[in-house]
Amino acid sequence: MERAPYLTSRLQGFGETIFAEMSALALRTGAINLGQGFPDVDGPGEVADAAVAAIRAGHNQYPPGIGVRELRHAVAVHQSQFWDLDYDPDLEVLVTAGATEAIAASLLALCDVGDEVLTFEPTYDSYGACAAMAGATLRVVTLRPPDYTFHSTELRAAVTPKTRLVLLNSPHNPTGKVFSRDELEEIARVCVAHDLVAVTDEVYEHLVFEGDHVPLASFPGMRDRTVTISSGGKTFSFTGWKVGWACSTPELIEAIRTAKQFLTYVSSGPFQYGIAAGLALPEAYFSTIARELRHKRDRLCGGLTEAGLDVFPPAGTYFVTADIRPLGWHDGLAFCRLLPERCGVVAVPNAVFYTNRDEGRHLVRFAFCKRDEVLDEAVRRLKGIAR
Ligand code: PMP
Ligand code: GLN
Repeated sequence: MERAPYLTSRLQGFGETIFAEMSALALRTGAINLGQGFPDVDGPGEVADAAVAAIRAGHNQYPPGIGVRELRHAVAVHQSQFWDLDYDPDLEVLVTAGATEAIAASLLALCDVGDEVLTFEPTYDSYGACAAMAGATLRVVTLRPPDYTFHSTELRAAVTPKTRLVLLNSPHNPTGKVFSRDELEEIARVCVAHDLVAVTDEVYEHLVFEGDHVPLASFPGMRDRTVTISSGGKTFSFTGWKVGWACSTPELIEAIRTAKQFLTYVSSGPFQYGIAAGLALPEAYFSTIARELRHKRDRLCGGLTEAGLDVFPPAGTYFVTADIRPLGWHDGLAFCRLLPERCGVVAVPNAVFYTNRDEGRHLVRFAFCKRDEVLDEAVRRLKGIAR
């Protein structure tokens, strides 16, 4: 890989994110963007209204460092209502600039140079970069299609004297896997046995179609060693607002807040009021988004199968992974770079989510958080891509 001049050795190889590259390609070619995960329809009007009202009411200066009271309370009520987890909104909830900052601040606050972060690959792209910024490295257990499961022996073998924390993403991007209760129990047992902190990325907590989302923090011995992270971007279809949060013990939150203070200090003042209003929506809102997305999942999975791809239907998130080999293609990166010109669709190559890129070479991710007519048109175009 080419060395980037000026860039510190810690960040060599991270380059531009695949989402930025592919979204720029979509703009340049006018292709349908099923790459970067963002919905093409805005979220609930009352959530937008609450943000507008907050601007009009003058909530436009720095919000408090831990986040506005209304949002911290709404997060605490949400965790209790949906997941039966109790957090003190004044000491155990920290508002961040999206889940991205909560993850970055957690790794920067909790990892020493040389530490290892145990996680499952494919991994969301910011994990490796954030670990690198903290001077830590990822040690991965690989999840493989079709079921993306793992053996407890693999997990236990990945724990070393340098392991500082377990970083878990469920529901999982890019595979759409929702970790099962048994798998979570095993991860919890490993954390307790080795006295590890867990940092969980649950941004897709409400986008689940098969099985149940269960926060790792709810397993025995986990409440006080887990940092539970989520954000309003996916749940309320406002990905540009960047309102996230972390819930944990006062001691862990204090550590993460120390790092967070010097990353953004604070962010998204009026949007925090918007997301607080979102979290207070009736329960029907949350079940409806999952039901609607499930239809979209089935629509795109059916279409991709008809187009000749080998599809692994996701249990959660708004992404589906497909194997491109039945089309006569073998390299997902080359496929995704050519796809916009060849047929006017953008997707993301899963290889970028692996430390061992060969594991994901033939896999490509499509986002289905788009209007039905957009999904149908993308499928129509993809039907011409077989070699
Ligand atoms: N984690 C995962 C797994 C994601 O897919 C995303 C994408 N948005 C994020 C974190 C970042 O969330 P946010 O936009 O709230 O920073
Ligand atoms: N989480 C989104 C995805 O996986 C992208 C967010 C980003 O561009 N960083 O597509």
